[in-house]
Amino acid sequence: MRFSGKTIAVTGGGSGIGEAIVRRLAGEGARVAVLDIDEANATRVAGEADRARAFRVDVTDAAALAEAFTQVVSEFGGLHGAVNNAGVGGPFVASANYPLEWWDRIVAINLSGVFYSLRAQLPHLVAQGGGAIVNMASICGFIGQAGTAGYVATKHAIIGLTKTIALEYGAQGIRCNAVCPTYVRTPLTLAELNDPEVWQQLDARHATGRCATPEDVAAMTVFLLSEEARSVTGSAHLVDGGITAC
Ligand code: NAD
Repeated sequence: MRFSGKTIAVTGGGSGIGEAIVRRLAGEGARVAVLDIDEANATRVAGEADRARAFRVDVTDAAALAEAFTQVVSEFGGLHGAVNNAGVGGPFVASANYPLEWWDRIVAINLSGVFYSLRAQLPHLVAQGGGAIVNMASICGFIGQAGTAGYVATKHAIIGLTKTIALEYGAQGIRCNAVCPTYVRTPLTLAELNDPEVWQQLDARHATGRCATPEDVAAMTVFLLSEEARSVTGSAHLVDGGITAC
């Protein structure tokens, strides 16, 4: 019960990796705020976990995020940690033809959404006397990937943002790290890739022989949020089965 008495917020907590993080945190005693644009999914996930509550919020709306975090703090009595996980994938198109509306959308959700979330969370964490933040990046924050300029650019940017927050707020007891998963079977990836043969080929590219699971990513995230990671900040942590090792 590493998180007994702690309140942790998870954006994009209504599906996939975020859902696994919510379950794991609740299982370890946390009160969990499940923030998602998909209210039905957020309510389902919160309903299945102990001490969890759903909040509908669009991470591209800075004012709505500020309001949501004020509500989280007033309902739960504080904020001790946050996982900025909400994100989208986008199309596979080479850059000259990458749709500009998708560029704007992916930057708004994957990058501005994380920055706006941080701005909404940091005053509460400072008031609380410290806390831990995890921003969800990707192996695409370490490497390039043809056809996914928007996704790769936003995930690289999240790592720089993570380091900057760690430097700015370390003295106030706040740690900030990024988690960088490899391919994970979730609604996000399955919407684009639903061919089992392609997944088998992806599995085979990993030293471990398989893609990661949402639970694998949740395990790293929860470690970084915990006191056991008190010396870990400003860094990006691969959960990639060795796919980027070569
Ligand atoms: P998912 O689609 O299962 O979950 C994403 C959640 O974010 C959904 O519940 C969705 O409603 C929510 N969301 C989307 N836009 C939002 C918005 N504007 N405001 C609030 N919530 C919003 O996807 P996932 O695979 O679990 O992805 C979670 C995170 O992990 C993303 O940041 C993604 O880039 C990252 N990631 C995923 C993989 C993978 O292979 N699945 C790999 C590396 C990184």
